[in-house]
Amino acid sequence: MELNSMKINEIKELMEELGEKAYRAEQIFRFIHQHNGRDIAELKQIPLDLRGKLKENYFISDMKIFKKFSSEQDSTVKFLYLLDDGNIIESVVMKYEHGYSLCISTQVGCRMGCSFCASTKEGLVRNLTAGELLNQLYLAEEDLNIRISNIVLMGSGEPLDNLCNVDRFFDIINHDKGRNISLRNITLSTCGVVPGIYELAAKDIPITLSISLHSPFDEKRAEIMPIAKRYKLGELLKALKYYSEKTGRRITFEYTLIENENDREEDVREMARLMKGMLCHVNLIPLNPIKEYNKGRPEKKGVLSFQRKLLEFGIPTTIRREMGSDISASCGQLRRSFIEHNK
Ligand code: SF4
Repeated sequence: MELNSMKINEIKELMEELGEKAYRAEQIFRFIHQHNGRDIAELKQIPLDLRGKLKENYFISDMKIFKKFSSEQDSTVKFLYLLDDGNIIESVVMKYEHGYSLCISTQVGCRMGCSFCASTKEGLVRNLTAGELLNQLYLAEEDLNIRISNIVLMGSGEPLDNLCNVDRFFDIINHDKGRNISLRNITLSTCGVVPGIYELAAKDIPITLSISLHSPFDEKRAEIMPIAKRYKLGELLKALKYYSEKTGRRITFEYTLIENENDREEDVREMARLMKGMLCHVNLIPLNPIKEYNKGRPEKKGVLSFQRKLLEFGIPTTIRREMGSDISASCGQLRRSFIEHNK
């Protein structure tokens, strides 16, 4: 079993089962999550016989930095990680005024099928474990010798399709005996898996929920994102309002602007209607073209005009700063180009 995916209470229970003192759990947890320990043999704080017992059934999952790309335009760094089973995932470190932010993957591939996304072209391979989510952070910090303060679950994969492991990740990363990152500094981005939004609301954890909207019309949205066929906008908006009321948290809508697709006057008006009275914020992302999706991005003035119109309707709207565009673009592109070149 994977020791680095276990919550501290579970390690305490394990210690009890093994007839060991409870404080051993804290030593093990600190070794993994504060000192980036990856080998049980090096856990010198605990007695040799306990190390032996642990090694019989437990291991600390590891991954290697397979490739690293540093932007020459800004301080963005993208990592390709090689997992224990030979799969490859990617993470991106971005530097902002308030500190470093890390975008992590939650699955190998994705089964959601969004048309503009490279991550989904090979389908879902498997879920990542909590330990593998954490390793993306620990390795990036170690390699760059930095402390990351914000985490975004917006890389490859749909986090609500892997909520069990994502929830475990939240618990471990937030623990004061571990890396102790505030949940308020974590954003989970979903394409709109409605049952997962209710499940998340029930957990009542203060993360930021971000929704990929991309069109305020069901039909158009379903062309871009197949999930919209299963969960219509009415149902999605109801779940989001519930989430926002239950947690008191503001919802972020991610909106990829695609030229002549979703950047029209009627899109602005419909967005304003849907979001009226909602505690929310819109983040505009000019499309990062991929070769499998033959659409363009609006000119800069078109993006600014879309923003201005939403602001006039009273909807807080920002434009996502483009980072690291010289080292390949949106989620899954690096991983996919690597897979293609090695077929
Ligand atoms: S955008 Fe996100 S949810 Fe959609 S296919 Fe890509 S990784 Fe999956």
